[in-house]
Amino acid sequence: MENVTPAAPTPDPATVLDRTGLDALIRELAARGYTVVGPTERNGAVVLAELAGADELPWGVGTDTDAGRYRTTARADGAAFAHSAGPQPWKRFLHPPRVREWSAERTDQELVFRAETSPAPSYAFLGVRPCDLRAIAVQDRVLAYGARPDSAYTARRRGAFIVAAECTEPGAACFCVSAGGGPAAGPGYDLVLTEVAEPGDHRFWARAGSERGAEVLAVLPGRHADSRTVNAARTAVDAARDRMGRSLPDVDLHALMAGSRGSAHWDDIAQRCLTCGNCTLVCPTCYCTTSEEVTDLTGDHAERWRRWDSCFDLDFSYLHGGPVRSTGADRYRQWLTHKLGTWHDQFGSSGCVGCGRCVVWCPVGIDLTKEIPVFAAERAESAAATGTAPEPRTAAPEHDGGLA
Ligand code: SF4
Ligand code: SF4
Repeated sequence: MENVTPAAPTPDPATVLDRTGLDALIRELAARGYTVVGPTERNGAVVLAELAGADELPWGVGTDTDAGRYRTTARADGAAFAHSAGPQPWKRFLHPPRVREWSAERTDQELVFRAETSPAPSYAFLGVRPCDLRAIAVQDRVLAYGARPDSAYTARRRGAFIVAAECTEPGAACFCVSAGGGPAAGPGYDLVLTEVAEPGDHRFWARAGSERGAEVLAVLPGRHADSRTVNAARTAVDAARDRMGRSLPDVDLHALMAGSRGSAHWDDIAQRCLTCGNCTLVCPTCYCTTSEEVTDLTGDHAERWRRWDSCFDLDFSYLHGGPVRSTGADRYRQWLTHKLGTWHDQFGSSGCVGCGRCVVWCPVGIDLTKEIPVFAAERAESAAATGTAPEPRTAAPEHDGGLA
Protein backbone atom coordinates (compact mmCIF):
# COMPACT_ATOMS: atom_id res chain seq x y z
CA MET A 1 0.00 0.00 0.00
CA GLU A 2 0.97 3.63 -0.31
CA ASN A 3 3.59 4.73 2.23
CA VAL A 4 2.10 6.78 5.06
CA THR A 5 5.38 8.17 6.36
CA PRO A 6 6.77 11.53 5.24
CA ALA A 7 8.97 11.65 2.16
CA ALA A 8 12.74 11.63 2.55
CA PRO A 9 14.36 14.71 4.09
CA THR A 10 15.53 17.60 1.97
CA PRO A 11 18.66 19.65 2.69
CA ASP A 12 18.35 20.84 6.27
CA PRO A 13 17.10 24.44 6.55
CA ALA A 14 17.98 24.56 10.25
CA THR A 15 16.43 27.49 12.03
CA VAL A 16 16.19 28.84 15.53
CA LEU A 17 12.69 29.88 16.57
CA ASP A 18 11.73 31.92 19.58
CA ARG A 19 8.29 31.92 21.20
CA THR A 20 6.96 34.13 18.42
CA GLY A 21 8.33 31.71 15.84
CA LEU A 22 6.66 28.80 17.62
CA ASP A 23 3.38 30.70 17.55
CA ALA A 24 3.91 31.35 13.82
CA LEU A 25 4.46 27.59 13.31
CA ILE A 26 1.09 26.78 14.88
CA ARG A 27 -0.68 29.44 12.83
CA GLU A 28 1.08 28.37 9.62
CA LEU A 29 -0.01 24.76 10.12
CA ALA A 30 -3.59 25.89 10.82
CA ALA A 31 -3.51 28.06 7.67
CA ARG A 32 -2.47 24.98 5.69
CA GLY A 33 -5.62 23.20 6.84
CA TYR A 34 -4.32 21.17 9.76
CA THR A 35 -6.05 20.84 13.10
CA VAL A 36 -3.10 21.54 15.38
CA VAL A 37 -2.99 19.35 18.50
CA GLY A 38 -0.41 19.65 21.23
CA PRO A 39 0.17 19.65 24.97
CA THR A 40 -1.65 22.05 27.26
CA GLU A 41 -2.27 22.08 31.00
CA ARG A 42 -5.81 21.21 32.05
CA ASN A 43 -7.22 19.99 35.37
CA GLY A 44 -3.82 19.29 36.85
CA ALA A 45 -2.42 17.29 33.94
CA VAL A 46 -0.66 17.95 30.65
CA VAL A 47 -3.21 16.79 28.08
CA LEU A 48 -3.39 16.84 24.29
CA ALA A 49 -5.85 19.36 22.87
CA GLU A 50 -6.43 21.56 19.86
CA LEU A 51 -4.14 24.60 19.95
CA ALA A 52 -4.87 28.03 18.46
CA GLY A 53 -1.52 29.54 19.42
CA ALA A 54 1.68 29.05 21.40
CA ASP A 55 0.20 30.74 24.48
CA GLU A 56 -1.78 27.55 25.11
CA LEU A 57 1.35 25.38 25.49
CA PRO A 58 2.25 24.36 29.07
CA TRP A 59 4.98 26.98 29.59
CA GLY A 60 6.72 26.38 32.92
CA VAL A 61 4.87 23.15 33.65
CA GLY A 62 6.87 20.11 34.70
CA THR A 63 5.72 16.75 35.98
CA ASP A 64 6.42 14.71 39.09
CA THR A 65 5.75 11.06 38.29
CA ASP A 66 6.25 7.67 39.88
CA ALA A 67 4.42 4.34 39.95
CA GLY A 68 0.76 5.24 40.42
CA ARG A 69 1.59 8.93 40.80
CA TYR A 70 1.29 12.00 38.53
CA ARG A 71 1.48 15.66 39.54
CA THR A 72 2.24 18.81 37.59
CA THR A 73 4.92 21.09 38.99
CA ALA A 74 6.11 24.64 38.31
CA ARG A 75 9.40 25.06 36.44
CA ALA A 76 11.48 28.16 36.94
CA ASP A 77 12.91 27.97 33.41
CA GLY A 78 9.49 28.35 31.78
CA ALA A 79 10.09 25.39 29.41
CA ALA A 80 7.16 24.33 27.20
CA PHE A 81 8.19 20.72 26.49
CA ALA A 82 9.87 19.64 29.75
CA HIS A 83 7.01 17.45 30.96
CA SER A 84 7.04 13.67 30.61
CA ALA A 85 4.35 11.68 28.79
CA GLY A 86 0.86 12.64 29.91
CA PRO A 87 -2.17 10.39 30.24
CA GLN A 88 -3.11 10.51 26.56
CA PRO A 89 -1.16 8.80 23.81
CA TRP A 90 -1.38 10.22 20.26
CA LYS A 91 -3.24 7.07 19.21
CA ARG A 92 -6.46 8.70 20.39
CA PHE A 93 -6.27 10.87 17.25
CA LEU A 94 -4.92 8.31 14.75
CA HIS A 95 -6.77 5.28 16.15
CA PRO A 96 -9.67 6.93 18.04
CA PRO A 97 -11.40 5.29 21.03
CA ARG A 98 -14.73 5.11 19.15
CA VAL A 99 -15.36 5.05 15.40
CA ARG A 100 -18.74 4.52 13.71
CA GLU A 101 -18.27 1.99 10.92
CA TRP A 102 -21.72 1.93 9.37
CA SER A 103 -25.38 2.70 9.99
CA ALA A 104 -28.58 1.14 8.69
CA GLU A 105 -32.19 2.34 8.28
CA ARG A 106 -35.19 0.02 8.05
CA THR A 107 -38.37 1.12 6.33
CA ASP A 108 -41.47 -0.83 5.33
CA GLN A 109 -39.88 -1.46 1.97
CA GLU A 110 -36.19 -1.92 2.51
CA LEU A 111 -33.12 -2.04 4.72
CA VAL A 112 -30.46 0.48 3.67
CA PHE A 113 -26.85 0.26 4.90
CA ARG A 114 -24.57 3.29 4.76
CA ALA A 115 -20.82 3.03 5.17
CA GLU A 116 -19.18 5.76 7.22
CA THR A 117 -17.83 8.28 4.72
CA SER A 118 -16.75 11.23 6.90
CA PRO A 119 -13.42 12.57 5.63
CA ALA A 120 -10.45 11.86 7.86
CA PRO A 121 -9.24 14.93 9.77
CA SER A 122 -5.78 16.29 8.94
CA TYR A 123 -3.90 16.68 12.19
CA ALA A 124 -0.65 18.46 12.92
CA PHE A 125 0.79 16.98 16.10
CA LEU A 126 3.03 19.43 17.95
CA GLY A 127 5.43 18.23 20.63
CA VAL A 128 5.54 14.49 19.88
CA ARG A 129 8.20 13.04 22.17
CA PRO A 130 10.72 10.56 20.71
CA CYS A 131 9.14 7.62 22.55
CA ASP A 132 5.76 8.52 21.08
CA LEU A 133 7.28 8.95 17.62
CA ARG A 134 8.47 5.36 17.89
CA ALA A 135 5.06 4.31 19.19
CA ILE A 136 3.43 5.78 16.08
CA ALA A 137 5.88 3.73 13.97
CA VAL A 138 4.92 0.61 15.97
CA GLN A 139 1.22 1.24 15.32
CA ASP A 140 2.01 1.87 11.64
CA ARG A 141 3.41 -1.67 11.43
CA VAL A 142 0.26 -3.08 13.01
CA LEU A 143 -2.47 -0.93 11.47
CA ALA A 144 -1.06 0.34 8.18
CA TYR A 145 1.31 -2.43 7.14
CA GLY A 146 -0.21 -5.52 8.73
CA ALA A 147 -1.98 -8.26 6.83
CA ARG A 148 -5.21 -6.23 6.82
CA PRO A 149 -4.52 -2.45 6.75
CA ASP A 150 -7.00 -0.38 8.71
CA SER A 151 -8.46 2.20 6.33
CA ALA A 152 -9.56 4.61 9.09
CA TYR A 153 -6.06 4.61 10.57
CA THR A 154 -4.20 4.94 7.28
CA ALA A 155 -6.39 7.87 6.17
CA ARG A 156 -5.66 9.78 9.39
CA ARG A 157 -2.00 8.77 9.44
CA ARG A 158 -1.39 9.77 5.84
CA GLY A 159 -2.70 13.27 6.52
CA ALA A 160 -0.78 13.81 9.76
CA PHE A 161 2.04 16.37 10.03
CA ILE A 162 4.36 15.57 12.93
CA VAL A 163 6.40 18.10 14.88
CA ALA A 164 8.56 16.16 17.33
CA ALA A 165 10.05 17.68 20.48
CA GLU A 166 13.27 16.07 21.64
CA CYS A 167 13.39 15.10 25.27
CA THR A 168 15.54 17.18 27.60
CA GLU A 169 13.74 16.27 30.83
CA PRO A 170 12.90 12.56 31.24
CA GLY A 171 10.42 11.64 33.95
CA ALA A 172 10.98 9.29 36.85
CA ALA A 173 8.95 6.57 35.10
CA CYS A 174 10.68 6.91 31.69
CA PHE A 175 12.88 4.12 30.32
CA CYS A 176 13.05 4.75 26.57
CA VAL A 177 16.82 4.15 26.39
CA SER A 178 16.65 0.59 27.76
CA ALA A 179 13.64 -0.01 25.49
CA GLY A 180 15.85 0.60 22.45
CA GLY A 181 15.14 4.31 21.86
CA GLY A 182 16.41 7.50 23.35
CA PRO A 183 15.68 11.13 24.06
CA ALA A 184 16.78 12.15 20.54
CA ALA A 185 14.10 11.92 17.87
CA GLY A 186 14.42 9.11 15.35
CA PRO A 187 12.99 9.27 11.84
CA GLY A 188 9.33 9.83 11.08
CA TYR A 189 8.88 13.54 11.83
CA ASP A 190 8.22 16.45 9.48
CA LEU A 191 9.86 18.92 11.86
CA VAL A 192 11.79 18.42 15.08
CA LEU A 193 12.35 20.98 17.83
CA THR A 194 14.93 20.94 20.61
CA GLU A 195 14.14 23.42 23.37
CA VAL A 196 16.88 25.55 24.91
CA ALA A 197 15.31 27.33 27.87
CA GLU A 198 18.12 29.71 28.87
CA PRO A 199 17.30 32.87 30.83
CA GLY A 200 16.75 35.73 28.42
CA ASP A 201 17.08 33.52 25.33
CA HIS A 202 14.37 30.86 25.29
CA ARG A 203 14.55 29.25 21.88
CA PHE A 204 13.96 26.12 19.81
CA TRP A 205 16.41 24.54 17.39
CA ALA A 206 14.19 23.42 14.50
CA ARG A 207 15.07 21.01 11.68
CA ALA A 208 13.05 19.54 8.84
CA GLY A 209 12.63 15.81 8.28
CA SER A 210 10.51 15.93 5.13
CA GLU A 211 9.83 18.08 2.07
CA ARG A 212 6.66 19.46 3.58
CA GLY A 213 8.47 20.14 6.85
CA ALA A 214 11.12 22.12 4.97
CA GLU A 215 8.41 24.11 3.18
CA VAL A 216 6.82 25.10 6.48
CA LEU A 217 10.15 25.89 8.13
CA ALA A 218 11.16 28.11 5.22
CA VAL A 219 8.32 30.58 5.86
CA LEU A 220 8.73 30.87 9.65
CA PRO A 221 10.37 33.87 11.29
CA GLY A 222 13.62 32.53 12.70
CA ARG A 223 17.34 33.00 12.66
CA HIS A 224 19.94 30.69 11.25
CA ALA A 225 21.11 28.01 13.67
CA ASP A 226 24.17 29.21 15.59
CA SER A 227 26.71 26.87 17.18
CA ARG A 228 25.82 28.03 20.71
CA THR A 229 22.20 26.91 20.22
CA VAL A 230 23.12 23.64 18.51
CA ASN A 231 25.66 22.75 21.20
CA ALA A 232 23.27 23.63 24.03
CA ALA A 233 20.51 21.56 22.43
CA ARG A 234 22.74 18.54 21.86
CA THR A 235 24.14 18.72 25.38
CA ALA A 236 20.64 18.83 26.88
CA VAL A 237 19.50 15.77 24.91
CA ASP A 238 22.72 13.85 25.71
CA ALA A 239 22.28 14.65 29.39
CA ALA A 240 18.69 13.39 29.27
CA ARG A 241 19.93 10.01 28.05
CA ASP A 242 21.79 9.56 31.35
CA ARG A 243 18.88 10.67 33.54
CA MET A 244 16.26 8.03 32.74
CA GLY A 245 14.16 7.35 35.79
CA ARG A 246 13.98 3.61 35.20
CA SER A 247 15.40 0.85 33.02
CA LEU A 248 14.60 -2.62 31.81
CA PRO A 249 17.17 -5.30 32.67
CA ASP A 250 19.71 -6.11 29.99
CA VAL A 251 18.29 -9.50 29.05
CA ASP A 252 16.61 -11.04 26.01
CA LEU A 253 13.03 -10.10 26.84
CA HIS A 254 11.57 -12.20 24.03
CA ALA A 255 13.22 -15.35 25.40
CA LEU A 256 12.52 -14.33 29.00
CA MET A 257 8.80 -13.98 28.37
CA ALA A 258 8.67 -17.29 26.49
CA GLY A 259 10.48 -19.04 29.33
CA SER A 260 8.45 -17.48 32.16
CA ARG A 261 5.02 -18.79 31.25
CA GLY A 262 4.85 -21.12 34.24
CA SER A 263 6.26 -18.67 36.80
CA ALA A 264 4.44 -18.31 40.12
CA HIS A 265 5.21 -14.59 39.98
CA TRP A 266 2.21 -14.04 37.69
CA ASP A 267 0.02 -14.97 40.67
CA ASP A 268 1.88 -12.49 42.86
CA ILE A 269 1.22 -9.70 40.35
CA ALA A 270 -2.42 -10.79 40.10
CA GLN A 271 -2.78 -10.27 43.86
CA ARG A 272 -2.18 -6.57 43.20
CA CYS A 273 -3.64 -6.09 39.69
CA LEU A 274 -7.22 -4.81 39.54
CA THR A 275 -7.53 -5.89 35.86
CA CYS A 276 -8.85 -2.37 35.22
CA GLY A 277 -7.16 -2.11 31.81
CA ASN A 278 -5.74 1.39 32.44
CA CYS A 279 -2.33 0.22 31.27
CA THR A 280 -3.69 -0.79 27.87
CA LEU A 281 -5.70 2.41 27.40
CA VAL A 282 -2.76 4.73 28.12
CA CYS A 283 -0.23 2.61 26.23
CA PRO A 284 0.62 4.30 22.91
CA THR A 285 1.02 0.97 21.08
CA CYS A 286 -1.93 -1.13 22.34
CA TYR A 287 -4.37 -1.33 19.46
CA CYS A 288 -7.09 -3.89 20.22
CA THR A 289 -10.70 -3.05 19.45
CA THR A 290 -14.11 -4.65 19.61
CA SER A 291 -17.31 -4.01 17.64
CA GLU A 292 -20.70 -3.08 19.05
CA GLU A 293 -24.05 -2.81 17.29
CA VAL A 294 -26.62 -0.44 18.76
CA THR A 295 -30.19 0.35 17.74
CA ASP A 296 -32.64 3.07 18.65
CA LEU A 297 -35.78 2.21 20.59
CA THR A 298 -37.84 1.63 17.43
CA GLY A 299 -35.32 -0.79 16.01
CA ASP A 300 -35.44 1.08 12.69
CA HIS A 301 -31.98 2.64 13.01
CA ALA A 302 -28.86 0.62 13.77
CA GLU A 303 -25.18 1.49 13.94
CA ARG A 304 -21.95 -0.44 14.27
CA TRP A 305 -19.22 1.18 16.35
CA ARG A 306 -15.67 0.08 16.82
CA ARG A 307 -14.19 0.93 20.21
CA TRP A 308 -10.96 0.31 22.04
CA ASP A 309 -10.89 -2.95 23.95
CA SER A 310 -8.47 -4.31 26.50
CA CYS A 311 -6.99 -7.77 26.98
CA PHE A 312 -7.71 -7.22 30.71
CA ASP A 313 -11.45 -7.39 29.98
CA LEU A 314 -12.91 -10.81 30.76
CA ASP A 315 -14.99 -10.72 27.57
CA PHE A 316 -11.92 -10.06 25.43
CA SER A 317 -11.05 -13.77 25.23
CA TYR A 318 -14.61 -15.13 25.46
CA LEU A 319 -14.98 -18.11 23.12
CA HIS A 320 -18.03 -20.42 22.89
CA GLY A 321 -18.91 -20.74 26.56
CA GLY A 322 -16.21 -18.96 28.55
CA PRO A 323 -13.15 -16.74 28.59
CA VAL A 324 -9.89 -18.35 27.57
CA ARG A 325 -8.02 -16.19 30.09
CA SER A 326 -10.22 -16.40 33.15
CA THR A 327 -7.83 -15.21 35.89
CA GLY A 328 -6.07 -11.90 36.47
CA ALA A 329 -2.75 -13.74 36.28
CA ASP A 330 -3.69 -15.07 32.82
CA ARG A 331 -4.58 -11.60 31.61
CA TYR A 332 -1.56 -9.74 32.98
CA ARG A 333 0.68 -12.50 31.57
CA GLN A 334 -1.00 -12.14 28.19
CA TRP A 335 -0.46 -8.37 28.16
CA LEU A 336 3.20 -8.39 29.21
CA THR A 337 4.13 -11.46 27.17
CA HIS A 338 2.62 -9.95 24.05
CA LYS A 339 4.06 -6.49 24.66
CA LEU A 340 7.65 -7.60 25.26
CA GLY A 341 7.76 -11.04 23.66
CA THR A 342 5.39 -12.23 20.96
CA TRP A 343 5.05 -8.72 19.50
CA HIS A 344 8.50 -9.43 18.00
CA ASP A 345 7.11 -12.54 16.27
CA GLN A 346 4.11 -10.67 14.88
CA PHE A 347 5.51 -7.27 13.99
CA GLY A 348 9.31 -7.50 14.12
CA SER A 349 9.84 -5.23 17.10
CA SER A 350 8.97 -4.83 20.76
CA GLY A 351 5.57 -3.37 21.58
CA CYS A 352 7.08 -1.22 24.34
CA VAL A 353 8.83 2.11 23.75
CA GLY A 354 9.48 2.88 27.42
CA CYS A 355 7.15 5.88 27.77
CA GLY A 356 6.28 4.88 31.36
CA ARG A 357 2.54 5.61 31.07
CA CYS A 358 1.47 2.14 32.23
CA VAL A 359 3.61 2.61 35.34
CA VAL A 360 2.31 6.08 36.16
CA TRP A 361 -1.38 5.45 35.45
CA CYS A 362 -1.67 2.04 37.14
CA PRO A 363 -3.88 2.77 40.15
CA VAL A 364 -1.94 0.30 42.30
CA GLY A 365 1.49 1.21 40.95
CA ILE A 366 2.39 -2.04 39.19
CA ASP A 367 5.67 -1.31 37.41
CA LEU A 368 6.89 -3.60 34.63
CA THR A 369 10.48 -2.45 35.22
CA LYS A 370 10.22 -3.94 38.71
CA GLU A 371 8.39 -7.12 37.63
CA ILE A 372 10.70 -8.07 34.75
CA PRO A 373 13.79 -8.40 37.01
CA VAL A 374 11.88 -10.93 39.14
CA PHE A 375 11.31 -13.13 36.09
CA ALA A 376 14.93 -12.59 35.01
CA ALA A 377 16.21 -13.64 38.47
CA GLU A 378 13.98 -16.75 38.44
CA ARG A 379 15.30 -17.68 35.02
CA ALA A 380 18.94 -17.13 36.02
CA GLU A 381 18.38 -19.26 39.11
CA SER A 382 16.81 -22.02 37.09
CA ALA A 383 19.63 -21.89 34.54
CA ALA A 384 22.22 -22.13 37.34
CA ALA A 385 20.40 -25.10 38.91
CA THR A 386 20.25 -27.01 35.62
CA GLY A 387 23.70 -25.97 34.42
CA THR A 388 22.34 -24.26 31.31
CA ALA A 389 23.16 -20.72 30.26
CA PRO A 390 20.33 -18.20 29.98
CA GLU A 391 19.80 -16.95 26.43
CA PRO A 392 22.21 -14.18 25.43
CA ARG A 393 20.67 -10.80 24.86
CA THR A 394 19.82 -10.18 21.23
CA ALA A 395 20.22 -6.75 19.73
CA ALA A 396 17.16 -4.58 20.23
CA PRO A 397 15.31 -4.26 16.93
CA GLU A 398 15.43 -0.89 15.31
CA HIS A 399 12.33 1.28 15.52
CA ASP A 400 13.19 3.12 12.38
CA GLY A 401 10.01 5.13 12.00
CA GLY A 402 9.96 3.74 8.50
CA LEU A 403 7.79 0.86 7.53
CA ALA A 404 8.45 -2.43 5.90
S1 SF4 B 1 -1.50 -3.57 35.80
FE1 SF4 B 1 -2.43 -1.79 36.85
S2 SF4 B 1 -3.33 -0.55 35.19
FE2 SF4 B 1 -2.96 -2.61 34.34
S3 SF4 B 1 -4.87 -3.73 34.68
FE3 SF4 B 1 -3.59 -4.18 36.47
S4 SF4 B 1 -4.19 -2.61 37.99
FE4 SF4 B 1 -4.98 -1.90 36.00
S1 SF4 C 1 4.04 -0.95 27.91
FE1 SF4 C 1 4.01 0.85 29.28
S2 SF4 C 1 6.03 1.83 29.03
FE2 SF4 C 1 5.77 0.38 27.31
S3 SF4 C 1 4.92 1.65 25.63
FE3 SF4 C 1 3.14 0.76 26.73
S4 SF4 C 1 2.60 2.30 28.29
FE4 SF4 C 1 4.65 2.84 27.53
